Amino acid sequence: MRVKFVAGNWKMNGSLAGNAKLLQGLLPGLQALHGFDCAVCPPYPYLAQVGQALSGSHIALGAQDVCAFGDGAFTGAVSASMLNDLGCRLVIVGHSERRALFGDTDGGVADKFLAARKSGLMPVLCVGETLAERDSGQTEAVVARQLDAVLDKAGAAAVAGAVIAYEPVWAIGTGKTATPDQAQAVHAFIRGRVAGRDAAAAAAVRIVYGGSVKAGNAAELFAMPDIDGGLIGGASLVVDEFLAICQSAVRH
Ligand code: PEP
Repeated sequence: MRVKFVAGNWKMNGSLAGNAKLLQGLLPGLQALHGFDCAVCPPYPYLAQVGQALSGSHIALGAQDVCAFGDGAFTGAVSASMLNDLGCRLVIVGHSERRALFGDTDGGVADKFLAARKSGLMPVLCVGETLAERDSGQTEAVVARQLDAVLDKAGAAAVAGAVIAYEPVWAIGTGKTATPDQAQAVHAFIRGRVAGRDAAAAAAVRIVYGGSVKAGNAAELFAMPDIDGGLIGGASLVVDEFLAICQSAVRH
């Protein structure tokens, strides 16, 4: 039985005062919920602030990206060991915004995945197709290519302790959510692809859905057999929405 996982991706949002207010609203409600794993991923400058607020709670701290290289002459970059040092337990790699806007390639994402694993961080590997790719029947080919890059480099056993986030690009921040059946089909495909290499890793890996998850649609998504939780963008910045989404994870 896989424990559900819900993470809030704050993206490039927040301020010292705004984060404090958001956490003040979230923490009592989250602390009262048990039986699922929860994390929040603020921007780098706020990791220390948010980490301090979360200390003593069961909510994990995560980052939104990591450099594939170790410490050294890489101006502007942040290493996995630094994230560890700041108390992060997980890091998102391969988010579609990084792939589309910052040039992250399949191979580069695999390097980030490996760097995170080597440093003891849990990678949250994002995969997903654009609308044009879906419309032209390429969803499985795209997801397979993104996934295989990591399986080839890190090995299938390495994904057992990781999270894979299926995030159709057309559903991110658009208000258009994949239907539970559409998402389930791709999640089952991903699990099958991992199973082709390592059945135990496939059974263990948590595959979460991301793309306009809200209080109103979380329960039906989380009820699907291969949907093990959610990666939440916009709704993770709204106290009542994020709490309700987490409640849906507890109920399934
Ligand atoms: C995301 O950023 O990973 C995401 C899923 O965003 P949203 O929930 O806003 O669609």
